[in-house]
Amino acid sequence: MSEEGVTFKIRFRVPDGASLQNTPPAPSVEMWRSCTALVFTVAAVSTFTPVHALEFCRSADPDCSGPADAQAAHARWNKDAANLTQHLELFKLSCKKLIEALPVDEIDGNFVRTVKNCIFSKSNPTPLRGSLRLAAVSKVVIEGILDVDVAVTRSEDFLLYASGAKLLPGSVPLAHRYGGHQFGYWAGQLGDGRAHLLGQYLNRKGETWELQLKGSGKTPYSRSGDGRAVIRSSVREFLCSEAMHFLGVPTSRAASLIVSEEPVLRDQFYNGNVATERGAVVLRLARSWFRFGSLEILAENGETELLKTLLNFVIREHFPLIRPDDPDRYLAFYSTVVSETARLIARWMSLGFAHGVCNTDNFSLLSVTIDYGPFGFVDSYDPGFVPNSSDDEGRYRMGAQAEAGLFNLERLLVALGPVLTHEQTRQAKIVLKGYLDIYQRRIRRLFRAKLGLLGEEEEEEEDDQLVALLLEMMKDTRSDFTMTFRQLSEASSDQLRSRNLTEMWALEDLSSHRLFSDWLVAYLQRLSRPQSEGDLRRQQRMKRVNPRYVLRNWMAESAIRKAERGDFSEVELLHRVLTAPFVTQDSAEEAGYAARPPLWAKGIKVSCSS
Ligand code: AMP
Ligand code: MG
Repeated sequence: MSEEGVTFKIRFRVPDGASLQNTPPAPSVEMWRSCTALVFTVAAVSTFTPVHALEFCRSADPDCSGPADAQAAHARWNKDAANLTQHLELFKLSCKKLIEALPVDEIDGNFVRTVKNCIFSKSNPTPLRGSLRLAAVSKVVIEGILDVDVAVTRSEDFLLYASGAKLLPGSVPLAHRYGGHQFGYWAGQLGDGRAHLLGQYLNRKGETWELQLKGSGKTPYSRSGDGRAVIRSSVREFLCSEAMHFLGVPTSRAASLIVSEEPVLRDQFYNGNVATERGAVVLRLARSWFRFGSLEILAENGETELLKTLLNFVIREHFPLIRPDDPDRYLAFYSTVVSETARLIARWMSLGFAHGVCNTDNFSLLSVTIDYGPFGFVDSYDPGFVPNSSDDEGRYRMGAQAEAGLFNLERLLVALGPVLTHEQTRQAKIVLKGYLDIYQRRIRRLFRAKLGLLGEEEEEEEDDQLVALLLEMMKDTRSDFTMTFRQLSEASSDQLRSRNLTEMWALEDLSSHRLFSDWLVAYLQRLSRPQSEGDLRRQQRMKRVNPRYVLRNWMAESAIRKAERGDFSEVELLHRVLTAPFVTQDSAEEAGYAARPPLWAKGIKVSCSS
């Protein structure tokens, strides 16, 4: 593996002759001479197509459908709304399945301690002090997943339930015991230090979701923390989990954000400037909150029987394609996690998303994005983008995420060691060797879709070259990642051919590159094959996979500054806009969300402090 870990090199051929700036005649492969281009970081196989986002919108979320679907969606919505839960007293959670299958800490009490031989500790949330305010709510989650009428969220009771002051029927709050490798080193016991699992909800679609409060007070796993989360990080988690969902990325979800007046002290940049902020709680959901670190802590402590119990539970509940009595089930489980993790990271890379803290305790066993902290969407393309200002060495820079995934999967394999036979371990190592290949194949597929390239496998090498050179040019010219792809989707072929790029600011930046003209000629020629579809269709396809709006740090920051003054209008605007990131929206355009990022965006720092 190279220094960049998963970065690989391919050869891009440029037209023969000295005048690279001149538009060459229609290039044939023979005419090109090679030049090496540094490529995007490595990716994965799957049935998960790049148009997943759109399919998802169509099937599940009326709020995110395009104009053509809107009427039908609303009709569906109104019909379903009649059956929504109107009183939270009728909303039933259950912890039965979890606590019957998985041991709970024998020691009671919310004091910090080292916990052994269990998966959960019972721990009640600590109510936030001062008056509470519902700052944001996701109707799609409240109604579409929790089957509750969103009108209910305006009640006093909702504030109490969703902030931890009152317990929903059936809830037995639990804090999960897990460990993890942080920044490459085993960190020992971590666990839910400020989160409470309220219970599972089986919705009317037959899906089971685990509800969790984050920022709801201390637990046995709080170590030296205060169990709280501040407004800024909670706004970011709320907005980004929803935004990622609508971008088509597997992720935990956010139902609500409640802010309080409870003072919370934070040294935001770890420079001795402690400030008083305010506590907030996010009600978040995932099909499961188990992480790589959930298994690691059991292996580290030699709790092999419990390791088997947890694995059997996870497989039974969440991996329906694996037979629970299969002697190779742990190997099959590992193999699935390897490929799904590769797919997830490829998806992040295709959107210019950097998680920021790719520790094993933040990697889900179900390969969904969890624990939004100092994440970032890259503006000017740079694989060295480090969103977390506390990550001095850039360990979790955007371009190293696939490598971080590989490291985490190695740790997961070590954790599975005690339950695998010698032969299974050998096979698991072979599986892991295939990780980068899976990732690479997935990246190729995603980026081909981003460029609107159709066709068969024989085109792949040429397509790799197009993608590689484009990314190289974007890096050299510091072109905007999101808008370069978006504007390539929005421009007609004629516009591109004549280089009529007025108001296409990202493409204008890109066009300053000395290889741009050559690349464009090659791209346009490639787009003309196969010729069965018109340009409009090509644009439509590309616009469905290249968002116009992502949660850029400056957008989150601007909304947070207002939120901290009690004005949540911009949080609401962002939340609304990001439920349809592929659709041009007037309010988003007015807010400048597709415009060149403001100068102050460059100075924004996001640290681990939250
Ligand atoms: P994170 O960096 O958010 O993934 O958290 C790493 C670990 O630190 C987890 O075990 C968290 O529960 C814990 N943690 C983070 N912040 C706090 C806090 N304010 N109070 C208690 N535990 C925390
Ligand atoms: Mg975490």
